[in-house]
Amino acid sequence: MSAASNLLKQHLQQRQLLGVTHIPLRPDALDKLSGLGRKPVTREIPEARPISIESAPEARAILDNPPPETKKAGLIEVTGDTIEEKLAALRTMAETWEPARSMESLRQTMVFAVGDPHASLMFVGEAPGAEEEKLREPFVGPAGQKLTAIIKAMGLDRAQVYISNICKFRPAMDNQGSGNRKPTAEEMKACLPFVLTEIDLIKPQVIVALGATAAEGLGMPGSVGGLRGRFHSTRGIPTMVTYHPSYLLREEKMGDGIRAKRQVWEDMVKVMEKLGLPISEKQRGYFLAK
Ligand code: URA
Repeated sequence: MSAASNLLKQHLQQRQLLGVTHIPLRPDALDKLSGLGRKPVTREIPEARPISIESAPEARAILDNPPPETKKAGLIEVTGDTIEEKLAALRTMAETWEPARSMESLRQTMVFAVGDPHASLMFVGEAPGAEEEKLREPFVGPAGQKLTAIIKAMGLDRAQVYISNICKFRPAMDNQGSGNRKPTAEEMKACLPFVLTEIDLIKPQVIVALGATAAEGLGMPGSVGGLRGRFHSTRGIPTMVTYHPSYLLREEKMGDGIRAKRQVWEDMVKVMEKLGLPISEKQRGYFLAK
């Protein structure tokens, strides 16, 4: 391909990424397009009239077959007519995903996600634990029950939201038994394209990152204390970071459970406001300091 064709290709790709579907061409531009690569375009033509890109065969061919570098970075390409079909294809790919499968530090059972593919609210955790691995569903153990209670307190049902994890495999440990550990940065990186593609397909209005590990996986490093209480952005989607439900369970047992619950609830009220959900006085008053 000539330098001029390359330039044209780059220009059209940039315009396409900006959402441009039609470009104005000068009257003799089509002749020049079909001759690209053979003679340089040098003469200025003052008059321009808009014509559909459909009638420029070389440009159409470039738009129909974008080169790999124009695909969205970090995402997995899946085919299917519906979101459900695309998610099913993504789940199948996760089963055999070599970057994760080749890590001996991750166990073998893949746990994907659960919930409504059309949900406006998406929760993202870190990785499955023992119970999740057994049932192959995220957040079904004690932390999951806590999360389900939070969702209910918001006036929603588990089936109305989408729940996923950054890491799709339970991190392995010596003498594992029922023990769980947080995924490492490398383990999260190996699985990250999946949760990012899920976000891209579902397009939730709000994401809630549960705990500092999930927040770090989504690109927001720091402590939950420093991140919570305001919206961040994951690929343009408002994202609230809050404490992981396991932290609430620990605090209830050994710390200041009421304070931790109140902080999570304050975050969830902001999420409900962002989603335009109704909030009763009773809901607003949950966990107020006595
Ligand atoms: N903790 C997580 O982060 N994810 C789960 O699925 C379960 C517990």
